[in-house]
Amino acid sequence: MNLKITDLSKTYSNGLKALSNVNIEIGSGMFGLLGPNGAGKSSLMRTIATLQEADSGSIMLGDLDVLKHKDEVRKVLGYLPQDFGFYPKVSAWDMINHFAILKGISNPRERKEICEALLNQTNLFDARKRNIGDYSGGMRQRFGIAQALLGNPKLIIVDEPTAGLDPMERNRFHNLLSEIGENIIVILSTHIVEDVRNLCSNMVIMNQGTVLLSGKPAQAIEDMKGKIWMKLIDKEELEAHKANHRVISTKVVEGKIQIHVYHASQPDASFIPLIADLEDVYFATITN
Ligand code: ADP
Repeated sequence: MNLKITDLSKTYSNGLKALSNVNIEIGSGMFGLLGPNGAGKSSLMRTIATLQEADSGSIMLGDLDVLKHKDEVRKVLGYLPQDFGFYPKVSAWDMINHFAILKGISNPRERKEICEALLNQTNLFDARKRNIGDYSGGMRQRFGIAQALLGNPKLIIVDEPTAGLDPMERNRFHNLLSEIGENIIVILSTHIVEDVRNLCSNMVIMNQGTVLLSGKPAQAIEDMKGKIWMKLIDKEELEAHKANHRVISTKVVEGKIQIHVYHASQPDASFIPLIADLEDVYFATITN
């Protein structure tokens, strides 16, 4: 099944254009929606999740018109929003059971089986009696995925899921996501380039409500080949370099500044060629 977004636009009542003629086609597997804060990712996710209206454009999930048939979409959608509200004093077991009832799983035996399976899949079964308020950030996110998986969704949307997780929790969460992404559409919205590099077979990079690049991360990296150059400079030299070159990123390294420059050929002999990574693609795209 495909999710096809066509000419989607949204301007908020304060005049801010959050989405501007967005066109994206997404097949099954993990899809990365990458962009800095304010790019419009959450606006797009909320629109796909039927939580907010667009001004114009269309979203089709297979034959289903997402903007028109919201109830139908909600039956096949799992959503893990950026700020997932929890009742901290409720156990994971009671909470997932409650969500399952809301999803319409009315047979108690069937509900018990499904909830057990989901808590097992997300590695929370042994902690099911603990209150969610006592969970770590990673456990909460895994619980968020467990509830998003209720009702066998065809499409799962996760918004900034790894922000604030420690490396081990993040890794665990990645493994869980890629397992899920084998069969259904999973849209991962994030500003963390590495998450997309590790997990997603396709992606778009957005900024200021516009899709700037779409394709496969590996191909986007390949297309940058021979165009990213590195130089270590002193802090005082930065402004001059910015004036003369397209500096796409800067990083402090042992008191010096390492700059990455986008240029079709070696700017001069003082620049060292780099093997581009997705971060270079990202910065070159959003600073263009
Ligand atoms: P992202 O998820 O990529 O950080 P958002 O979709 O949250 O981006 O925001 C895109 C832009 O729209 C931002 O400039 C944000 O301030 C603005 N915005 C988001 N929600 C609203 C809203 N409800 N009303 C007005 N402006 C909003």
